[in-house]
Amino acid sequence: MRDTTLLQLALGLAPPWTVSRSDFDPEAHRLDIEIDFAPGSRFACPTCGAADCPAYDTERMTWRHLNFFQHEAYLHARAPRVRCDKCGIKTVTVPWARPGSGFTLLFEALVMTMVAAMPVKAVARIVGEHDTRLWRVIHHYVDAARARTDASGVTRLAIDETAARRGQDYVTLFVDIDQARVMFATEGNDAATIAAFADDLTAHGGDPDAISQVCIDMSPAFTKGIAENLPNAAITFDKFHAVKIINDAVDKVRRVEQEEQDLLRGTRYLWLRNPQTLSARQRKTLGGLPTRHLKTARAYQIRLAFQDLYQQPSVQAGASYLKKWYFWATHSRIEPVIAAARTVKRHWDGILQWFDSKIANGLIEGINSMVQAAKGKARGYRSTRNLKAIIYLLAGKLDMRLPAL
Ligand SMILES: [Zn+2]
Repeated sequence: MRDTTLLQLALGLAPPWTVSRSDFDPEAHRLDIEIDFAPGSRFACPTCGAADCPAYDTERMTWRHLNFFQHEAYLHARAPRVRCDKCGIKTVTVPWARPGSGFTLLFEALVMTMVAAMPVKAVARIVGEHDTRLWRVIHHYVDAARARTDASGVTRLAIDETAARRGQDYVTLFVDIDQARVMFATEGNDAATIAAFADDLTAHGGDPDAISQVCIDMSPAFTKGIAENLPNAAITFDKFHAVKIINDAVDKVRRVEQEEQDLLRGTRYLWLRNPQTLSARQRKTLGGLPTRHLKTARAYQIRLAFQDLYQQPSVQAGASYLKKWYFWATHSRIEPVIAAARTVKRHWDGILQWFDSKIANGLIEGINSMVQAAKGKARGYRSTRNLKAIIYLLAGKLDMRLPAL
């Protein structure tokens, strides 16, 4: 078999395309394949699809293809422009690449498969391309798949923010709880962020009025944004954020108290964790403290009691439990605990809404770990746009429609 015939079969080329020659340079680790079409060939118009348009002229182009063994492979061809009666002069879309790309479809599919599994910089190093070119490919496929996303039927959301880089910028994630997918990721964490989501939802066939349950932290900006843009959504304040507010109070109490009580030194994490998660030794340390005299220990008990709210069997039981807890906390004479209890009071209904919705941002823990992985993969990239693209790629459950490798 001639090498041109072999390559033509391997590339899966159909008429009028044929391999006209190939040059293999083992020193340069490079295979160059020339593709051509027979004179007089006719092509479909890339715009309207009209068949049998004559070639008007050609433009020489090159595409990086999958490696030939350990050697880089490039396809070269004269890409014809056709004259269509309706559309005028248009560049024909070649079957092995999408318009405007310097890579073949299969090379792009390989890149997209690799970036889902490792940092983009690492992929760039392995394939020997500048990562700017790879980001262009990533954005193309993610944008195209996002455009196809169907948001109809979305009713329950978890909304959470994540620091984009070094805690400076925030990206807010909107997660469709029922399908465990990131619907929308956007810069910022204010009321306008919710408005941007509502627009995006509508653009993808969803209905802001159909959103019935949302879980958020206690951010007043989110609360305001939801009232304005998701008018039928009942707010659940995320229980992990609620517990954290009480936990922060415990930590504040300990920090002040250990100025006088040396025995509290080195005990910080004992108070911040749950008893079940402590090691035997840590439990012993905690048990050995004269807890009755410590404000820290009382604050800690109040925090544990708050967590028990979520063990109550019904919203009625929960409401009466929370009332008792609030009385206890506000009569503790421990300032940080009283302040935390007042915060709870201000978010009362949204905390109790949990009994109805049973939603929490912790439900999206799997997504959170994917987002952390996304940060790793986008590392070294200042642009939040890149981070968002990787978040969608990993956690958006997108239909990427890549050619099969
Ligand atoms: Zn046309």
